Amino acid sequence: MTERGGLSALQEGDASMEYKGNPVSQGYAVGPVYLYSSVVPEVTEGRIEAAQVENTLAAWAAAKAYACRDLEAICARLTATQDNKAAIFHAHLSLLGDLAIDEEIRMQIQDGLSTLDWAIQKTFDKFIRRMQRSKNRLFQERATDFRDVRQRLLLAARGLSPQSLRSLPCPCIIVTHELMPTDTANMDRENVLGIVTEIGGDTSHSAIIARSLGIPAVLGVPGITDALAPDALIALDAVKGLVLDTQDEALLASYRVKADDYRRYLSELLVYKSKEPVTRDGSYVQVLQNLASVGAADLSDAACVDGVGLLRTEFLYMGSDHLPTEQEQFEAYRTVLSTFKEKPVTLRTLDIGGDKTLSYLPMERELNPFLGERAVRLCFRHPDMFRTQLRAALRASVYGNLWIMFPMIGTMEDIRRAKAALEEAKAELRAEGVPFSDEVKVGVMIEIPSAGLLADLVAEDVDFASIGSNDLIQYTLAVDRMNQNVAPYYQDFSPAVFRLLRYIAQEFNRRGKAISVCGELGGKPEAALLLMGLGITKLSMNASSVAAVKKMIRSVSLEDARELAQQACSASYAEEIEHLVKSFLSQKIDES
Ligand code: PEP
Ligand code: MG
Repeated sequence: MTERGGLSALQEGDASMEYKGNPVSQGYAVGPVYLYSSVVPEVTEGRIEAAQVENTLAAWAAAKAYACRDLEAICARLTATQDNKAAIFHAHLSLLGDLAIDEEIRMQIQDGLSTLDWAIQKTFDKFIRRMQRSKNRLFQERATDFRDVRQRLLLAARGLSPQSLRSLPCPCIIVTHELMPTDTANMDRENVLGIVTEIGGDTSHSAIIARSLGIPAVLGVPGITDALAPDALIALDAVKGLVLDTQDEALLASYRVKADDYRRYLSELLVYKSKEPVTRDGSYVQVLQNLASVGAADLSDAACVDGVGLLRTEFLYMGSDHLPTEQEQFEAYRTVLSTFKEKPVTLRTLDIGGDKTLSYLPMERELNPFLGERAVRLCFRHPDMFRTQLRAALRASVYGNLWIMFPMIGTMEDIRRAKAALEEAKAELRAEGVPFSDEVKVGVMIEIPSAGLLADLVAEDVDFASIGSNDLIQYTLAVDRMNQNVAPYYQDFSPAVFRLLRYIAQEFNRRGKAISVCGELGGKPEAALLLMGLGITKLSMNASSVAAVKKMIRSVSLEDARELAQQACSASYAEEIEHLVKSFLSQKIDES
């Protein structure tokens, strides 16, 4: 077998290829490759000469015919298996046949002398704006279809077909350079068996999304999109971090068995999901959920958790091609708050920047985007955008128990500024007579080391804080969480980080202020055990981690956790701490 991706070893006469990467979401899968790359055509205003009108009209007819053929093929494929999804594309076909759209585009070309791109863009923008203004929810939702068809036509004009993860042809393994939150926002989850990307570390957003959906994923496999053929059958080992391109039936069969066994293991673990998270010595550890979207499936675990410890509101912005309106946001937040009722819902204000961008919000190219104008810094630059989100959140607060949390806080000035923006939004609503709850709690994420070092002052100034360990590790250890080359420097068990966490926990607990962890550490049983020992007994995690963390909580005592945490803080090496806690836990879990 040949091995690629950092290591290589060749054995004669074996055509199988093996590629190595980071197993960021555990599991196994066997399935065909779906090579995915999202192309967003850029359109600028353009004019043609009168003599080019005929040719441009012909190009319009050709683009439309091309898009129609594509859509008919998709519908034929889907109708046989998934009627509900085929309906979406039938609706797109009928949009292509819409006479009003056709007439408007032809007019833009003939009378307005617009280029084909510009005529398509302008016409669809006009219809989309009309739908967004409509009070009718169905019309508002139709705007998404118009955007998809616009994209399809713009690509068809270039002889290309769009790719989307919204409706996949069959169960498959997605192989792509990088998976952006925009791509996954509307992903056809049922048909994704696994994910493989060329870049992305353990706490990249691709990894977080894969884990939150419980999809096996191997990230950081250089050159994999060139190496694999579309539709090739591959096996994914997201425990060891391997992608196997093989025709060896026996090997594929062994991976199918592993996939079944792993699924069985997960379903056995599921019994813990609804159990009480109480340690052997009777301490209750709050287990909350992180949310990165608010579909019915995301909200189905509300009864098993103590609330939402992190609502990543970016999903609303990234799954859209315009800044979400106050009403759109209000409705999404209300859905979560009314689902969780009296349980806290911690709404993190917009965290864009770093690896997350918005197509419709111009952002300067930065040399170090993770150290740049990210999260609250970006919101401070766009006060209207910030105000819209705060107003929407406050309006929704009457439907549940809202905690508002500001990300990327580095200084006390940041806190003052964010709170002032919140007060302004409140004053506006009061003046307009719009109701909101007086009970809203205000807190911050501690994910920049400076905020951690100021924990005593921060704790005085806020109602609560949640530790964003993904970024806190990145910034404390100066390791880019997206950079595959420095992944070994990104230590989950860093003694330096544990010492900082100990200080933060101590200052918040001393003042009786709530302190939690909502980064990925909170959802990893070994790390969560140490967090409990440091005095952080509120952990927020992806739904897929809840059962395993509850199982861990129920098999240990807080006393043991304290002892281990103390040892961790005096250790010199990350591997020492990892070994300590893993051997302790394997013994405890065997005993239980
Ligand atoms: C974190 O940094 O730990 C966190 C929860 O936020 P994000 O992963 O979205 O940056
Ligand atoms: Mg963060």
